[in-house]
Amino acid sequence: MADLYWPILLGILGAVFGSFIATVAIRWPQGRSALQGRSACDGCGKALAAHELIPLVSFVLQRGQCRACGQRIHPAHPATEVAGLAIGTAAGLVAPGWEGVAGAVFGLLLLALAALDLAAFWLPNVLTGALAVTGVVDGIFFEPGWIDRILGGLIGFGLLYLVAFTYRHVRKREGLGGGDPKLFGAIGLWLGASMLAPVLLGASVTGLAVALAMKLSGREIGMTSRLPLGTLLAIAAFPAWLYSVGV
Ligand SMILES: [Zn+2]
Repeated sequence: MADLYWPILLGILGAVFGSFIATVAIRWPQGRSALQGRSACDGCGKALAAHELIPLVSFVLQRGQCRACGQRIHPAHPATEVAGLAIGTAAGLVAPGWEGVAGAVFGLLLLALAALDLAAFWLPNVLTGALAVTGVVDGIFFEPGWIDRILGGLIGFGLLYLVAFTYRHVRKREGLGGGDPKLFGAIGLWLGASMLAPVLLGASVTGLAVALAMKLSGREIGMTSRLPLGTLLAIAAFPAWLYSVGV
């Protein structure tokens, strides 16, 4: 039972936090605060009762609909709840204890950034900043060492900043969001310089797979319909943490 304590605890906390992330990702781009006001149906605005707020359980019991108006619950809710559950559980399994807690914080911040970049092409400084600060705090207690982390932060930021700078001058338009270099730098502070290449590779493969899936399903993709790089980097970074802690 002791072996399951951390995965279960962090899995539940992850699902609860994932539920909050969906609310933020839906409300923030609309200029509404997720902190003000109670949790409510996105359709009719009816405030949700306590038993309607249980991650995933409520969604399944209500068959994915609002009890009051029958509107389909936004798929972002179950998606981020499942993702949060998976992140917490995986972190608790790979590193039972405080390092697993740190990993869950890393994964859930990445989930919030991935969701916001997907919903609004936006990586808020407050979240990339929190990712960088927690990366430094993580370095006080756990591997990798400081030199690897500092190089990771500098190279991660510098590399994407250079790409964005070059693209802007060659193509005369923005190719990367302003938040992407900061996100990659913060990921470098967490994982170290040695993990930057695997994360970039994982992000590229994921991006190609999504583009291929969209093409096969008949959806248009052109040079201007960009997939958010921040989302792809965030998706690739958490498995990289699991790998580096697990081996
Ligand atoms: Zn409703």
